[in-house]
Amino acid sequence: MEEDSKALIELRREFHRLAEPGWMEYRTTEHLIKALQDDRILLHYGKEIYAGERLGLPTKEEKERYSSGLHLAIEKAEEVLEGYTGAIAVVETGKEGPTIGFRFDIDALPLKESTDEDHLPHRLHFESDHLGAMHACGHDGHMAIGIMFTKWLAQHAKQLKGKFIVVFQPAEEGVRGANALVNGKWLEQVDYFFGMHIGMGLASGKICVGTEDILATEKIDAIFTGKSAHAGAHPEEGRNAILAAASAVLGLHSLPQDANGLARINVGKIEGGSGRNIVANHAQLALEIRGSNERVMEDLKAGVKRILEGAAIQYGCHLESSCKGRAEAWYDKDKLFHDQLTIFLQNKGYALSDFSMKGSEDVALFLNRVQEHGGKAMHFMLGSDLKAAHHQEAFDFNEEDLITGLDLFKDLVRFLMTNPIGNK
Ligand SMILES: [Zn+2]
Ligand SMILES: [Zn+2]
Repeated sequence: MEEDSKALIELRREFHRLAEPGWMEYRTTEHLIKALQDDRILLHYGKEIYAGERLGLPTKEEKERYSSGLHLAIEKAEEVLEGYTGAIAVVETGKEGPTIGFRFDIDALPLKESTDEDHLPHRLHFESDHLGAMHACGHDGHMAIGIMFTKWLAQHAKQLKGKFIVVFQPAEEGVRGANALVNGKWLEQVDYFFGMHIGMGLASGKICVGTEDILATEKIDAIFTGKSAHAGAHPEEGRNAILAAASAVLGLHSLPQDANGLARINVGKIEGGSGRNIVANHAQLALEIRGSNERVMEDLKAGVKRILEGAAIQYGCHLESSCKGRAEAWYDKDKLFHDQLTIFLQNKGYALSDFSMKGSEDVALFLNRVQEHGGKAMHFMLGSDLKAAHHQEAFDFNEEDLITGLDLFKDLVRFLMTNPIGNK
């Protein structure tokens, strides 16, 4: 136990140091593959694990920043360096039994890490090697748990039955990665699927079975193209893209009024124009919508389309909009499964607690696909006291909590081995 905890912390620190943002988890993928090297683990990675569009890919400049001069000592280095990052580990027991899937996310954030002496990664010298990239959401901890758990599955394959599929998913931030992985063959025969996130405001020592309010979301870029002109001599010849964008922002923020559920919209970024005395021929918005169900999302999507197109027509501009990320809502609808897990975990001594996320997580795509096929799925929150909130430069969780996450996954497997609850 003590040893496992130490190993988890060591792994977490190794991955913390490697911090790479979504679709650029090059060294992270290499490190994962090396850590999972085991005859009993079948490793899949590179293009073969992909079956859908990779949303929100980085720009050429961003890619070069992380990949230039990089040599990966793995077989499919080239594919990984093209952004086919992540891996799927499979453990076969050779015995009849359920197929059980798990997802761990692996990406960091574009954020400059704190150099405050209070910040543990800085004090103990395991801060990010990449200036401007940081594990500020705990995915370094998720990977540590995922690796230790996969190795445990391999070591115990003789005592277990069925098949285990462990997905190490890239680009969760911005909900981009899951879309490219869920449509593959991997989920077809999955009977059970589990996802988990650390922290988020749930205290150390607590576990939430069935995270509430995982919202659907879509991340949208809208680009208005107008026509530039001399702002003094011939403004009538111009088509002002800034006006179109500005008009759209006000319209967009009036949308989230919906009696069918929770609705959110945010235009988080606006840029445009090229100079004070030029009618702007270019403006762009980065926005997101969120909703607690598909009905709300459909309303929001239709509203966004109407308003963007309307604003473009109003100012004679051309509109181009594209989806940069998407996730679905997930809610804990399988009461029976929830109650069975709750009773089992309570008896095992876990301190259970309710938790509402009011955020988005693209693990919802995995959970929903498995449930649609008739499988069972659950999302957990692993409590951990935080030094600063998620996505902040001083973010840090309590490393002592990692062992609880690892134990939780082991116990879920033990539970399913002895209590087969309605395999499909
Ligand atoms: Zn995050
Ligand atoms: Zn996260």
